[in-house]
Amino acid sequence: MAGAVCRAEPSVTGTQNIDSQTVVLKWKEGKQAVFLLEFDDSAPSHLQKALPELRKHKMVGTFYINPGNPPYKGLKDEWEKASLEPEVELANHTYTHIGATSPEQLDEQLRLCNEVIEKAYPNRKHPRLISFGRPGGVPWTVTEEQKKALLDKYHLVERPDFHGYPFQYKTREAVLALVDKALAEGEMGHHDCHGVGGDWLVTPMDVFTALLDKLEANRERIWITDPVSWHKYHTEREGAKVTVISTVGDSISLRLESRVDPEFYDMPLTLETRVPAGWTECTVIQGANRSTAKVSNGVVRYSALPGGGEIVIRRS
Ligand SMILES: [Zn+2]
Repeated sequence: MAGAVCRAEPSVTGTQNIDSQTVVLKWKEGKQAVFLLEFDDSAPSHLQKALPELRKHKMVGTFYINPGNPPYKGLKDEWEKASLEPEVELANHTYTHIGATSPEQLDEQLRLCNEVIEKAYPNRKHPRLISFGRPGGVPWTVTEEQKKALLDKYHLVERPDFHGYPFQYKTREAVLALVDKALAEGEMGHHDCHGVGGDWLVTPMDVFTALLDKLEANRERIWITDPVSWHKYHTEREGAKVTVISTVGDSISLRLESRVDPEFYDMPLTLETRVPAGWTECTVIQGANRSTAKVSNGVVRYSALPGGGEIVIRRS
């Protein structure tokens, strides 16, 4: 795309010196809060009981798998098929949930699990960021520094600590309150499960479905996503900088940058730009992406990629 040139035009036209103000919205599409649904240990009930509910609600769950263990191996084909569904995001919970008593052991555990995940997504680029959930209840004597170095090596992003039924939350009300808390704070909330309606450390089915129903009821306000998407969004947003390149006539040109590596941080952010009075609809172009958006209360909302090249907003 040709670089926009800031031309000095006669001020009588009233179209230059546009007071364009742009903000990056706190969460994707202007949602008020975020919610993550996470599932540990490749329990069979994830596929048999949780996934049908997620499908029904079109909500993504993130499944921290142990592909070297019997529960996964026994349903390997089903896991591989499920991983292609939009409701399933696979994440690294180590290969066999054995713990980590040496850096070499952790290295192998992370690598083997990552290999299974990468194979499950042949159409995604590699390497990319993958979520990591540390296995609990097993020996873990590697230092934080050793762990961090290996997570970096495999592009793993550690999730927030496990919080779920029946450990931290013992009633349905306590689980449902997580949604209210996320909304009240405008932050990320999450619920983590082992078994769902069966298997071990079970989240009862009625508690699980009540949680999904509550999320559904607040769908307009909550971004239900996976931990890596949440991580990318808030990390990019925190380092985001918008620069106005030019505001000429019926066109505003901007640049959106963030401090993180665009190779790994490739989540579009949601922006709003104030446009001049009289604009009712805009075309927004960034690289090969082109969209149209209605102007509402003087602002146009669109998504753009940090480091994705010049953004041009044209009156249409
Ligand atoms: Zn586990």
